[in-house]
Amino acid sequence: MKILVINAGSSSLKYQLYDMTDETVLASGRVERIGMDSSILVHEPHHAEEISEVSEILEHTTAIRKVLDKLTDAQVGVVKSIDEIEAVGHRVVHGGETFKSSVLVDSDVKAEIRRLFDLAPLHNPACMMGIKAAESNMPNVPQAVVFDTAFHQTMPAKAYMYAIPKVLYKKHKIRRYGFHGTSHDYVSKRTADLLERPLEQLKIVTCHIGNGGSLTAIEGGKSVDTTMGMTPLEGLMMGTRSGDLDPAIVPFTMNKEDLTVNEVNSMLNKHSGLLAISGMSSDMREITEGYLAGEPNATLAFEMYEYRIRKYIGAYVAAMNGADAIVFTAGVGENSAELRQMICEKLTYLGVEIDLEVNKVRSKQPRRISTPNSKIEVLVIPTNEELMIARDTYRLAK
Ligand code: ADP
Repeated sequence: MKILVINAGSSSLKYQLYDMTDETVLASGRVERIGMDSSILVHEPHHAEEISEVSEILEHTTAIRKVLDKLTDAQVGVVKSIDEIEAVGHRVVHGGETFKSSVLVDSDVKAEIRRLFDLAPLHNPACMMGIKAAESNMPNVPQAVVFDTAFHQTMPAKAYMYAIPKVLYKKHKIRRYGFHGTSHDYVSKRTADLLERPLEQLKIVTCHIGNGGSLTAIEGGKSVDTTMGMTPLEGLMMGTRSGDLDPAIVPFTMNKEDLTVNEVNSMLNKHSGLLAISGMSSDMREITEGYLAGEPNATLAFEMYEYRIRKYIGAYVAAMNGADAIVFTAGVGENSAELRQMICEKLTYLGVEIDLEVNKVRSKQPRRISTPNSKIEVLVIPTNEELMIARDTYRLAK
């Protein structure tokens, strides 16, 4: 069965076509700048060089039509006809409390995703555009939705409730949901494979550190706590997001700086984090260069970023009364040997010991970076959210 995985954003759309007989990626690519005059489609078939094409793509339906044209093209295509694609899987950011696992799309599911627009106004409408665009191009093909929040629905109330009037939970569903669930789920399963131990017996702290970042405490394969909250703003310091702060800062700043709700939201989501502290970049590669060169602002940004991750690792080991493994994944987690070293060197109280040389090796393969003496295994596992979406879609569509 061939499955198309779609991750739609407001002005972009990423895709991968899987052959589920051996889980290989036949082609992948992205459309950027949808709705703008020079949209870019980048298509990478498994058998040929990547190609890119600039054209006008005004909305998602056209974007998907162009993607399907590429997938069936005589030169750069990977299937003869669209009919070979038997299911489509969509990444949806917010599933609220309704969606505890992936589901096939029907009118009720779409209505519920629409009801959740309030909780994820930046993300869910874009996911919906992706679903509608796929439906109109492939009306008879089953579509599945896989939610970033679903994996965290196992959290106990003590982890997901905020200590504010309960009426806000009842009326508006204000609670912790957590995100990156597909990634935390994937790397925890890979951890069990690598350690050759049953997932049900493991306590794992997974660190998904990319542009956005979150840590999750996973006990017996179930999320028991996670750093992101009702929205992806809470928790770690991120590229442009503040992460945790004293909630009183919000009304105080609005008052002093005469900011509107939208302005303060934009400040915390787009103009904070690494970017604000370094004053130069939200990209961890540039921050690391600055830190290694001793530039003071980049150094402070790097130190704050690391410190927050390390504090949460400590918190989650405490939450689970121990841990068998700490796992690093996503852009920064997979690539920044400097960050991993700095974190692990201050976890010696837990008996963590990493091999500094092994830590520095660059690889796309999952690997152990702790020494045989380490009391907690430390692993680097490249995430693969698309494969998880393809697997869920396959299971549902079969
Ligand atoms: P997203 O959250 O957008 O999916 P990614 O998981 O792709 O993000 O991570 C992007 C981040 O990974 C960027 O901040 C980038 O700087 C960082 N990154 C990539 N390579 C390295 C590296 N070698 N060292 C440090 N950071 C890196």
